[in-house]
Order: sequence, then structure tokens, then C-alpha cells
Amino acid sequence: DPRIAGISSAIRVIPDFPKPGIMFQDITTLLLDTKAFRDTIDLFVERYKDKNISVVAGIEARGFIFGPPIALAIGAKFVPMRKPKKLPGEVISEEYSLEYGKDVMEMHVGAVQAGERALIVDDLVATGGTLSAAIRLLERVGVHVVECACVIELPELKGRERLGEKPLFVLSLGL
Ligand code: 5GP
Repeated sequence: DPRIAGISSAIRVIPDFPKPGIMFQDITTLLLDTKAFRDTIDLFVERYKDKNISVVAGIEARGFIFGPPIALAIGAKFVPMRKPKKLPGEVISEEYSLEYGKDVMEMHVGAVQAGERALIVDDLVATGGTLSAAIRLLERVGVHVVECACVIELPELKGRERLGEKPLFVLSLGL
């Protein structure tokens, strides 16, 4: 698709952020480019509009940028998957491992119902640990996760393998 090149070139790479050796993929420059940002949302909407998806689950923080416009366009609700102690209502939590240590993801009880069909959205997949936690959280309450969608994949980190059978759709590859 000719739109992909414009999206990829609108993503800025910042070396040594947040620490030495990391090549940070910065999507804020994509948001400044109105055509590339619109094309990003359109490509996801074209893929998911006829898939009977009732829930878009967006992962904090940058899944909150891409998830809601996709949800509105496909007629699905938006559910935030947040870091601990951010959601005010009753939550269910899922622990996941990071490079050093652990983190927790939370979702409001009652936001989704068993049998619903969900799309999980984030900006980037690296090791796949974050998406895996989101999948577990939704599946624990009986939701069917149709696919995970990210703007960027870092293929060297093999996140796709960690997701196993669960389909992953991305627009751009980073290093
Ligand atoms: P994973 O759990 O797949 O190892 O890491 C993915 C999570 O880390 C995503 O929520 C993503 O936002 C964040 N992340 C890791 N590296 C980068 C990066 O280079 N750029 C951006 N924008 N996010 C990153």
C-alpha cells in the first residue's frame, strides 16, 4: 500500500532514549503529519470495519492515541488497559514481566462482557509482553481477542513468537 512509506517516514527514531543503546521509535512526529496520521487510522479501519469487533482495547499510554479513532470509526466501544492504581472503579489485574522486574495492567470490571470480540491496539510491539498481558486479561473474562494491531513492530525482539497463535497486524517495521 503506497500509504505505508509515508507512515514509516513520519516516525522519528531517537537514539539512546530512554537509556543508552535504545533506538526509541517516536510516534509523536507521526501525529504532526496529518496525512500520515489519517492514513494510519484508515488502514486499521479498513482492516477491522467488517470483523464484528465490539471492543477496542487500548494500552496505556500510546494505545490511547490510536485506539479511540479506530473504535469510533468501526462502531466499537473503547476500553483503556491501564497501569496500576489509575482506574477508579473495581479492576481485574494481570502481572507481566519486563526486562528488569514486573509490571501490572488493569481493566475495569464490567467494561466488557463474555463473548465479545476485541481488537487490542498499541503503538509498538517489542518483546510482546505487554500485548500478552492484555490478551490474558481479556480472555480471563471470556472475551475473544480477534487480533492485536500496532503501528510498529521491532521484529528482532520476536514479540510475534511470544503471542503464539494470536494474529498480530503491523504497519511498519523498526530496528
Ligand atoms: P513489549 O512489551 O512488547 O516489550 O513493549 C511494548 C511496549 O513498550 C508498548 O506499550 C510500547 O508503547 C512501549 N515501547 C517500547 N519500546 C518503544 C519504542 O521504541 N517506541 C515506543 N513508542 N514505544 C515503545
